[in-house]
Amino acid sequence: MSPIWHPFTQHGLQEPIPLVERAEGAALYLADGRRIVDAISSWWVTTHGHANPHIAAAIAVQAAQLDQLIFAGWTHEPAETLARNLIALMPHPLAHVFFSDSGSTSVEVALKMALGFWHNRGEPRHRILVMEHSYHGDTIGAMSVGARGVFNRAYEKLLFDVGTIPFPKAGSEQATLDALDAACRAEPVAAFIVEPLVLGAGGMLMYSPDTLRAMHAICEQHGVLFVADEVMTGWGRTGTLLACEQAGITPDIICLAKGITGGSLPLAVTLATPAIFEAHWSTDPAKQFFHSSSYTANPIACAAANANLQIWRDEPVRKRITRLAERQAAMLGELAKLPRVANVRQCGTIIALDVVDTEGAGYLSEIGPRLRESFRSAPVLLRPLGNTVYVMPPYCIDETDLGSVRDAIVEAVTSLGS
Ligand SMILES: *Cc1c(COP(=O)(O)O)cnc(C)c1O
Repeated sequence: MSPIWHPFTQHGLQEPIPLVERAEGAALYLADGRRIVDAISSWWVTTHGHANPHIAAAIAVQAAQLDQLIFAGWTHEPAETLARNLIALMPHPLAHVFFSDSGSTSVEVALKMALGFWHNRGEPRHRILVMEHSYHGDTIGAMSVGARGVFNRAYEKLLFDVGTIPFPKAGSEQATLDALDAACRAEPVAAFIVEPLVLGAGGMLMYSPDTLRAMHAICEQHGVLFVADEVMTGWGRTGTLLACEQAGITPDIICLAKGITGGSLPLAVTLATPAIFEAHWSTDPAKQFFHSSSYTANPIACAAANANLQIWRDEPVRKRITRLAERQAAMLGELAKLPRVANVRQCGTIIALDVVDTEGAGYLSEIGPRLRESFRSAPVLLRPLGNTVYVMPPYCIDETDLGSVRDAIVEAVTSLGS
């Protein structure tokens, strides 16, 4: 038996844990000889496909030149190049780049930046507003601003209190906007953190760019910092490079991770406006930003991210995204006709549907395990969120592989009976 303790895995269920030997494009190759289509981009990170040769080459070159460097008071070219090129891609005036190594830490950094901003200005504000059903990571701070549930019940006492705004369900958007406005008026609020357009781990819940724009306007009006967690939505997932682009807004802080290296190495950034940076700028050491991790801006990870940006510049990535979105729309149209399927939805390259559970939905409901069981015997990697099935493949996936994904979903859903 392996000594490995896997994440989000109940070892007591003794489900098989496949051994993967290599990967290429949208395919994983298993030790037992099977070829599996990665329909969820290995947990939403792989954008251009696995083992991209340009990214792999950049990693090899950088690993032989400068592997790691303390980043407090030192710098290196891969990070400088990456920061400059990121800023050029981001909406004005996001002008400062803080590095970390996962989506969760990019969120911790964002929260600390927001609190530091108010603290250093001498008008401390501590209240953080969040959206119902949101997910921002698994560290204590990130869990605090995410939905409470079975995932964090054991740690709930340690999580800090936040104000929760209802999710803007289609038709009830005004209730969300009213609640946000009321919460901003009720007390001094430091920041509102939100996943733009798609709430990922919360069940691929989607809302409109208009609502995103309206929420941003309310925060702006009350001087509340707007934090966009684009860890999942960034790098083309929603059809545009950033989801925020579709609403035409510039957040005060943006978190990026997952696809920043094309899905090859862990790296994250938290981008901030000059106002937030300047609140920490001083000759007083006590006002500096107190955050770091050992691998902050690791040069190899930065080189991988630079190679990712180069791919965005050199290759027709946007065209691939548009084509994938079209194919996903066609597939969703077919899946919508299946019995038990409800709430079909799409945002860019992401499609999702709910498999209606007659005994009541939820992450631990019976539908989820039965779907998972069915997907285990199919040549695809799909990992439903409870009774929500979603498809979020690498942009390079072809028609045949997408067909296998569709077949697996059809099989899983029809095997449940109607
Ligand atoms: C995955 C995710 C995170 C956490 O990122 P990790 O790299 O897994 O720590 C944070 N926010 C959102 C929206 C995510 O989807």
